[in-house]
Amino acid sequence: MEILLAKEMGFCKGVRRAIGMMEKAVSEHGRVVSLGPIVHNPQVVAALAEKGVQVTNSIDGVSGVPLAITAHGVGPKVLEEAKAKGLDIIDTTCPIVTRSQRWAKKMAADGFTVIVYGDADHPEVEGILSWADGKGIALGDDDVHSLPRELLSRVAIIPQTTQSPIRFAAFIGRLLRERLVQLNELRVVNTLCNFTASQQAAARELAQQVELMVVVGGHNSANCRHLAEVCCEAGVETHYIETAAELERQWLIGRERVGITAGASTPDWAVEEVVRCLRELAPR
Ligand code: SF4
Repeated sequence: MEILLAKEMGFCKGVRRAIGMMEKAVSEHGRVVSLGPIVHNPQVVAALAEKGVQVTNSIDGVSGVPLAITAHGVGPKVLEEAKAKGLDIIDTTCPIVTRSQRWAKKMAADGFTVIVYGDADHPEVEGILSWADGKGIALGDDDVHSLPRELLSRVAIIPQTTQSPIRFAAFIGRLLRERLVQLNELRVVNTLCNFTASQQAAARELAQQVELMVVVGGHNSANCRHLAEVCCEAGVETHYIETAAELERQWLIGRERVGITAGASTPDWAVEEVVRCLRELAPR
């Protein structure tokens, strides 16, 4: 059985930068508290915890220790609150996410309703919406029909950085088809992450050459879930696993070519472990 790896996969620049900043802060201060998991990968979070990076979901109980903002970013109120508490802030927000936040703030200030296309409960989307200062709404693929009519006059659409370009284009098309008559002005701000788009393109290309795709990454990672969707859309059987322990021998029966891809928050060692286990499990 041949095991093929996607041409582009694994840690992105933003995640490498965030982890590097956290590790530097820990070496300087001994301890850091991260507001939410630094990346959506429990194994990476556990490795950082051993070095001294604790995770919290609220800054209420944080004092006397630097507060790290994750690569997904946060809204302005959280930053103000942290400053008011006198906390040292280690802001690892990915510059690509910062750009989205700036656009949300600008478009809201210019009188637009800001639609953030993405997963409403994802921290990046929540953060971007906060910068729109109450003039935004998060919508997913099937939500066009639920748009409040009174919002639609001047609309700006900003995608979550990790969304698929194909799905984003389809969403815009649906919005235009179903709501064009209510729109006076529509601005599309392309804040899609090129790195994610290349990973998805590489996953799609590989999925067309194999009989089975394995996507490796945290089950809570939007980026990995989108990779799995891309592979399924290519028409190949796809399994989305967090660790090698989830692999099943029966998936491999009769397969000659198996492809692997991994999200932006998946460390290389997790992929290497999956490759090793696939070799062990492969029927002989
Ligand atoms: S996937 Fe893109 S936007 Fe997200 S952290 Fe990585 S580089 Fe930044």
